[in-house]
Amino acid sequence: MSVPSSFYESLKSTYSKAIDSGDLIFTPTSTEYTTVDDVSYVYSVIPTLKEKPQGIPKADESTEEAKEDDSKPFDPFDPPSPPLTVLSDYANDYAVVLNKFAVVPYHFILITKKQKSQASPLEPADLKAAYSLLRETNKQSGVRHVGFFNSGLNSGASVDHRHIQFIEFPSSKSSEYVPWPDKFVKPHAASYKDGDKPISAPHSPFFAHFLAPVDTTTKDEDLADHLSFRYSTLLSRVLTSLRNSSLPPRTPISYNLLFTEEWLLAVPRTAPDFIDKEAGVSIGINAVGAIGLLLAKGDDELRYIKEKGPVAILQAVSLGSEGGPEDTDYDY
Ligand code: AMP
Repeated sequence: MSVPSSFYESLKSTYSKAIDSGDLIFTPTSTEYTTVDDVSYVYSVIPTLKEKPQGIPKADESTEEAKEDDSKPFDPFDPPSPPLTVLSDYANDYAVVLNKFAVVPYHFILITKKQKSQASPLEPADLKAAYSLLRETNKQSGVRHVGFFNSGLNSGASVDHRHIQFIEFPSSKSSEYVPWPDKFVKPHAASYKDGDKPISAPHSPFFAHFLAPVDTTTKDEDLADHLSFRYSTLLSRVLTSLRNSSLPPRTPISYNLLFTEEWLLAVPRTAPDFIDKEAGVSIGINAVGAIGLLLAKGDDELRYIKEKGPVAILQAVSLGSEGGPEDTDYDY
């Protein structure tokens, strides 16, 4: 089943009902815009983040039975909560639900109906379903969205049931915020071919990242192949850069994949949180941090982020400059 023409209307009405019933938590946020080294950043204070579970849970501790059976990790998407469900059946194998701990209004999630691992690579059908949902949401809402996938223990993932999240970009009606990949992808969009090396911005931002344009003219029937080819190029770079890094052996392979209609961006991750032991600070860094959207749980955390600077924080949870572009003939 394709995306219904009423999807965005359903998303909004399900959201309003879930807020009224208390099934969904969203606290209005304060937002500040800034630019560092030509990269746009948006700082948001999101108290809701304090409620969100951290890390992949070991077991469902919400019931007495589950406490006894600690072999079964808690899975909030099996089944998804009915008041949060927007589409119970999409593209055969998927459902769409609202994020219970929304970081922006209408924060939604594509989930697989069957339990599948979040640490495994995305499949062609996942990529097609996610991209089609993003494109249709942009069309129906008139607002540009970004999708993101957190994979691996260091990526910030907290649920081991395959899911891809979507939020709208901030201030999409003004030019205060421009995601930095837009600028770097544009000159390559027409000439980039399957098999080409991913694009890396030469200087900013200063952490390892791999970018590929999406050919927006791709026909529906070719979308799964097109996206898979470009994603696998990025993924092989992620694997190569993690392998070549000085991380201890057996560090889990972790990365964030972010995508818009125009590009795919992969960022290898080395830690889920930014930690400053001396200052007693631990800040969970969300995938969208990679495109400059930095989310703080409170005013103190925001003050710390601003003082430390976004680049130092993002470098500390990724490969920093050590995983930058290098000239190898093959990856992984
Ligand atoms: P991640 O942390 O990247 O694995 O994404 C999982 C998302 O699921 C988080 O952003 C949570 O806020 C969200 N979440 C947790 N429990 C539920 C639930 N019961 N229903 C919907 N979303 C949830």
